[in-house]
Amino acid sequence: MSASANDSSSTGMNEILENNRKWVEGKKAADPDFFNNLSKGQQPRYLFIGCSDSRVPASAITGTGPGEMFVHRNIANLVVHSDMNLLAVLQYAVEVLGVKDIMVVGHYGCGGVAAAASNKQFGLIDNWLTHIKDVVRLHETEFTSITDKEKQLRRLVELNVIEQVRNLTKTNIIQNALQRENPPRLHGLVYDIQDGVLHNLNVETDTINEFQHIYGIEDIKHAEEAVEKAQQGKV
Ligand SMILES: [Zn+2]
Repeated sequence: MSASANDSSSTGMNEILENNRKWVEGKKAADPDFFNNLSKGQQPRYLFIGCSDSRVPASAITGTGPGEMFVHRNIANLVVHSDMNLLAVLQYAVEVLGVKDIMVVGHYGCGGVAAAASNKQFGLIDNWLTHIKDVVRLHETEFTSITDKEKQLRRLVELNVIEQVRNLTKTNIIQNALQRENPPRLHGLVYDIQDGVLHNLNVETDTINEFQHIYGIEDIKHAEEAVEKAQQGKV
């Protein structure tokens, strides 16, 4: 059964709804309490920050099921410090859900990365892709030293993931979490659309330490004490 562009159904959602009914049946057959248990709450171990690309489905490529992974996706898996959507997801995942592992997942063949590497204009999205051009600028020597265009783009996909993991460490959410016990671990992965394999880039997040004088923030307790003193008129 497949939907077509001239589907005469009233909603165009028939295939989706039918797939859903079959999925529900299958889950209930395997475990009658499956949905009842999920409805009690969530405590996912992972936060997945990936690309919106339809070929990179978060649950499918990681073998995770409902309740196991909190997910944020945007074009080219960017961690942008003024992106309230990303920040809200990150804060909730870290401080409320207590996720153990956060992964930024890029993918070879990323259209967003390719668009950013070109000098073409695509409209509003150009402003979003500028964040990837910033990655090129940070790694310009290495980027321009690669003469093969495909290899250059594959490396840019990796460099982009590395910089987005570093961007996570610049947020006060992660910096505060690192001051507490059992902070979440940060990972950078790249998915290869051509063979379905996920690769761990083993991103060194401690490289951010050399920029601590710029991105580092004081201990949250000191900040809270300062606010308290200010409120008491001591400052
Ligand atoms: Zn992509």
